[in-house]
Amino acid sequence: MNLRVDALRRLLAESEADAFFSLSPPTNFYLAGFSGTTSAVIISGKEAIFLCDFRYTEQAGDQVKGYSVEEIAGTLETRVGEFLDKIGAKVVAFEAAAHTVHQQQSVQKAFSGTLLPELDLVRKLRCVKDEDEIEAIRGASELAESVLAEVLPQLTAGVMEREIAAEIEYGFKKRGAQGPSFDTIALFGARSSLPHGMPGDKRLRTGDVVLLDFGCRRTGYCSDLTRTYAFGTIPGAWFEEIYDLTLTAQRIALEAIRPGMVCREVDAIARNLIADAGYGERFGHGLGHGVGIEIHESPRLNKESDAVLEPGMIVTVEPGIYLPGKGGVRIEDLVVVTRDGSESLSKSPKKLKVLPE
Ligand code: ZN
Ligand code: ZN
Repeated sequence: MNLRVDALRRLLAESEADAFFSLSPPTNFYLAGFSGTTSAVIISGKEAIFLCDFRYTEQAGDQVKGYSVEEIAGTLETRVGEFLDKIGAKVVAFEAAAHTVHQQQSVQKAFSGTLLPELDLVRKLRCVKDEDEIEAIRGASELAESVLAEVLPQLTAGVMEREIAAEIEYGFKKRGAQGPSFDTIALFGARSSLPHGMPGDKRLRTGDVVLLDFGCRRTGYCSDLTRTYAFGTIPGAWFEEIYDLTLTAQRIALEAIRPGMVCREVDAIARNLIADAGYGERFGHGLGHGVGIEIHESPRLNKESDAVLEPGMIVTVEPGIYLPGKGGVRIEDLVVVTRDGSESLSKSPKKLKVLPE
């Protein structure tokens, strides 16, 4: 008995579709526990079928429970279309955002019924995490934080951004992570004003801002954390000002997080504080995002999101202020929404820290 398959069946029963297929690795990991890259899942009221080719049959035997596992040869999309006909499916839902037009067309070519692109099937299920998923993300977060503690002493004069990014990613693998959950961001000095800058050859100098945004993937789940420091000495009064403001914005947003809150209202709490201090234009991204099997998931904490927080959702809270030519500050934590508030999965200190030279 697979509870996630049952939950999807309930959603299907409310929709026009009588079956569902997925070629998406994160979805198939969620629904079937399969961590490989090439597979298909087909679910109807009665059937739960998992398709893979020879390379993955043994792995699927270990990982996939509650499905009939079929080894296929040839084009996966074609086999999916044929299986859909075989089980008598007429209208088949699939996740629009997780498939290419080419995949859709290839399945359709082999299937005589109708394909129905949907936005919120598995995505809706995935945004509320169960206990095992919360523990997996907590584990990924703890692993990443232990790497941070190991890497901080390596921030010495002359070290390059990309060396620190590489050390962080090496630390992840050494400690048993599958790898980074996204490309590690390590930026020094004025480059820290690039919200998603790529680590380069810039060398660390006294008075530089140090912005580290990183996370790992462990047991299939992601973590995400940002900390900003000063190296050797405070870069200037401007830095203290935007650091305090960012930290306060994050604190009041974290305090507001509880079940029933609308995501755009949480975003507004942090955004209004920053705007009132005159830096509204310099906080140009959303306050946060869901994290799970993928680094960016529902719900989004931004100006447009009508999503309502529920217990078990895991989101980042990451306000930032970026001053071109000077530097930026972003402070990001990962929190799980609890019955009456939130619990932070990240514990690294946030008080302004000047790293010793
Ligand atoms: Zn991040
Ligand atoms: Zn993030």
